[in-house]
Amino acid sequence: MASQDYRQGLTERRLSRRDLLRAGTVAGLGAASLALASCAGGEEESAVATVAPTRELPRPTPPPGPYVETATGPVSTSDLGFTLMHEHIFVLSEGVAANFPSVWDAEAKKKEAIDLLSRLKDRGVSTLLDATVLGSGRNVPLVQQVAQESGLQVIVATGLYTYDEVPHYFQARSVDHMADLFVQDITEGIQRTSARAGVLKCATDHAGVTPGVEKVLRAVAKAHRRTGVPITTHTEAKSQQGLAQQDVFDSEGVDLSRVIIGHCGDSEDIDYLTKLLERGSYIGMDRFGLDVYLPTNKRVAVSARLCGMGYAERMVLSHDAAVYWDSFTPEVLKALGVNWNYFHILNDVLPALRQAGVSEAQIQAMTVENPRHFFENVGGY
Ligand SMILES: [Zn+2]
Repeated sequence: MASQDYRQGLTERRLSRRDLLRAGTVAGLGAASLALASCAGGEEESAVATVAPTRELPRPTPPPGPYVETATGPVSTSDLGFTLMHEHIFVLSEGVAANFPSVWDAEAKKKEAIDLLSRLKDRGVSTLLDATVLGSGRNVPLVQQVAQESGLQVIVATGLYTYDEVPHYFQARSVDHMADLFVQDITEGIQRTSARAGVLKCATDHAGVTPGVEKVLRAVAKAHRRTGVPITTHTEAKSQQGLAQQDVFDSEGVDLSRVIIGHCGDSEDIDYLTKLLERGSYIGMDRFGLDVYLPTNKRVAVSARLCGMGYAERMVLSHDAAVYWDSFTPEVLKALGVNWNYFHILNDVLPALRQAGVSEAQIQAMTVENPRHFFENVGGY
């Protein structure tokens, strides 16, 4: 495998920007991990084997008024507060830890996550959207424990993360079957927990809308229309995949205002970004700290400019960071720099946005009100 050779070689040479971009692609994973999962077979068993034992959390009664599902139960949208709209907690190559348990210490990582999320809560963040699904080693029983013990509200996702093919299981089955499983996660609970998915996730990267990716986008669209649960995506911004995603959603009758096109903050192409916005979607300025794609000062400048153009009500902020992401070796992680963490927006980005002329009301919109409105626009159709 090219990526493996590449990573072994990393320790022996200096990291160039190109290396890091490639590492980002490796880290974006999807295809490689899915291939592993399908080769291993018995995905259901593997998935169950990777999860740490969990105490059964009873499902609390939903509050009156609009609410969103989180790992620890339904939360009133008025209690969402400051929300990081695209993060991860644990991103694991699908099936690897189940087959080689020595590579993953769930208990140690759980402690680390509880510590980080507790600190985030102390700093005034109330909610984190964990956009991790099948293809990135989703482990909701573990995330549920982290949410419960840290007190941070964690919205968990359903969907499928791939840049090209879907696992063999889904290749052999229909779009509707995939949609049924997503709906099950939304209405019954994920991985036999009481946690229900509050958001649908899919991805389109440099390969574009391949048959596998299209199957996922259509299944996500169908599950969205059946349940009303909103959609958030991964895109490659430089090849303008957000527009391709909007086309597929549009053809499925999706109201594009119920979609966040992710990773738009990687782009400085105002023309591309306004095209997405004009079709009604939110855009995710959601990789602050990933300087390898675009440094913070440029991300801030683009966000401030769009605020000035009147789009503050259509942007959300986040880092796309994680407590642990197994495709980054310590060397790559170090080279990626210190900014890529859950605290960068609080520590550096918000002050820089203010400096760039963004008002408190606009910051409030991007961090509190837009997430709330996104999750209040509910109901199937
Ligand atoms: Zn992500």
